[in-house]
Parts: sequence; structure tokens; C-alpha cells
Amino acid sequence: MSGILVALGGNALQRSGGTGTWEEARTQMRATVGVLAEIAASGRELVIAHGNGPQIGALLRQNELGARDVPARPMDVLGAETQGQIGYLVQTELPPALRRVGVDRSVLTVISRTEVASNDPAFDHPTKPVGRFYSEEEARVLRKQQGWIMRYDGARGGWRRLVPSPRPIAWLEGPAVRRLLESGLGTRWVPVVAGGGGIPVVRREDGRYEGVEAVIDKDLGASLVARELGLDTFAVVTDVPGAAVSFGRPTERWLGEVTLGELEGHFARGEFAEGSMGPKVEAGLQFLRAGGRRFVITDIPSLARAVAGEAGTRVRLD
Ligand code: ADP
Ligand code: MG
Repeated sequence: MSGILVALGGNALQRSGGTGTWEEARTQMRATVGVLAEIAASGRELVIAHGNGPQIGALLRQNELGARDVPARPMDVLGAETQGQIGYLVQTELPPALRRVGVDRSVLTVISRTEVASNDPAFDHPTKPVGRFYSEEEARVLRKQQGWIMRYDGARGGWRRLVPSPRPIAWLEGPAVRRLLESGLGTRWVPVVAGGGGIPVVRREDGRYEGVEAVIDKDLGASLVARELGLDTFAVVTDVPGAAVSFGRPTERWLGEVTLGELEGHFARGEFAEGSMGPKVEAGLQFLRAGGRRFVITDIPSLARAVAGEAGTRVRLD
């Protein structure tokens, strides 16, 4: 299928230095939908996946702070809530942008579950940053009083809470969405799928699926979606224009068009940080090795040119 999967970063949906209000989320989304509409106008299938780190962290905090009055919901339920709120935002903001470029497509949000292994070692080693950035002083208090595990993000100058992030194994709603695209509806609908990498669930012995307390990496989850749907392009949209080697050091160098082998080499040498750029590159490598044709990492202002092969860090196999 000539379609494209665009994976929007949680930080492309909500500015890290921002206030975190809903109005701000709408403003960010309005700045994003124009280029998505342009891609749809080219006639190809467009599927949207998205992150939820900032959003699920906010819900976790709201639930903790409100727990004296209303019982807190488990993390898988909060994951479903973030898919709902972000899907709703795309459903609200994308159609007017589609109409402006004369495209008649409807947005369809699919609450998505992703299977993970119950014995994934990630459950004992939280690596996924969620919620907002905290100062040194705030972090000290939260670690002590709430028992949070936190990590300092040097590039963005703040502390963030970490939660377990098991590896995605299977996207449970994948077969249904694939049938939708195969029946030709891919050019009539814009599916919004696998938000936050999908709600993490484990398969019990009786065959039932049960949610777990974790947040899947959205890039690895999105890669599974792109492979499951057989799309030919996978675009990871984040808050930097691409991937760099020697990131944050004086010798820093931003990567443009690279070969699969070059990207594999940089990844193997540990150029891309765990929990942020690392999973994006890994997600792309998985996609390309499984038959994907084009992979790009870029930001919203460069997305159209990156898809055209003129910007971003990119690999094309053809
Ligand atoms: P998203 O919400 O889009 O998934 P992440 O915070 O997970 O965003 O990943 C993007 C961040 O990765 C960038 O803002 C940057 O600080 C960080 N990063 C780590 N290593 C690199 C690298 N080698 N090149 C570029 N950015 C990097
Ligand atoms: Mg991320």
C-alpha cells in the first residue's frame, strides 16, 4: 500500500515549556493539521498514530491528587483516556483543514490495545518519561514523598517521572483496521490508531486480555502499525528536525539522507538516547527490515519536505 503512517510525538502535541491547558493543545493541533491535510490531498492513505507521555502523566497526577474523593483509575484505563482525548482533538481539528484543501475524508479514532509480555523485564526498570518537567527542588520532594522514579533530561533541562515501558508484541485492532484499508476505505477515512503505542495488555491463560500498569513507547507501537498495515512510508514527527550524532556535544552533526546501514551503525554505537531518539530509530529500522520503503524523523515545520525526501533524517529503499 502506498500509504503513510505519521506518528505524532507527545511533545509535538504539547509544548514542553507550555502551560498544559486544553486551549494550548488545540492551538498546537491546529498548527499540525495543515501539513496532514496536504499529505491526504496527495491521494495516499494517511494513518495517524500519536504519543501520550505528557497527557498520561497529567492524568496520573490528577488521579493521585483527586484520589481522596474519586478512586484513581489504573494506568491502562488512563491510556485509553488519552487515546480518547487526542483522537477527539484530531477529529475536531483535522476535518476543517481537509475541507480547505478539498479532501473528503472522515477521521476515525480506534481505541487500540497492544499486547506485551507479562514477564517483560521493563516492568522492573521504568524508562518511559511521562507528565511535565519538574525543577530539581520539586523532583526531590516528589521522589521522597510519592516514591517516584525520575530522570534528568539535560537537553530540555528538567526532571521527569518514569514508568515501565514493555515492548509491543501485537496490535490487537490491527486486523480490523487492515480490512478497512484493504476494502478501499483508506482514501475515505483517516484512522487515528495506537495512541501511546496502544493500551498495554497481557494475554491470560484463558485467552482474556488484561490491562497492565505501563506505557508502551509510541514509536515502537507505531512501527508495529506500519508493518501490520503494509504501509510504505513511516514518518516520526517530534520536536527536533531529525536525529543527530554526538547529540548535545560540540561535534554534534544532524543527519540528512542516510543508508539503512549507516543508520544501523549509528544506532549500534549508541548515538540515540534511550527512551527518546533511540526508540524512534529502532522503530524505523524494524519497519525498513520488514519491507517498509521510506522512513523519516522530522518536526512539523519540515514534515511536507521530509516526506518529499528533502528534509529530516531519512532512509529510502528503492
Ligand atoms: P516525542 O514526544 O516526540 O517522542 P521524545 O522526547 O521522546 O519526543 O524524543 C525527542 C527528543 O530526543 C528530542 O527533543 C531530543 O532532546 C532527544 N534526543 C536524544 N538523543 C537525540 C539525538 N541523537 N538526536 C536528536 N535528538 C535526540
Ligand atoms: Mg518519545
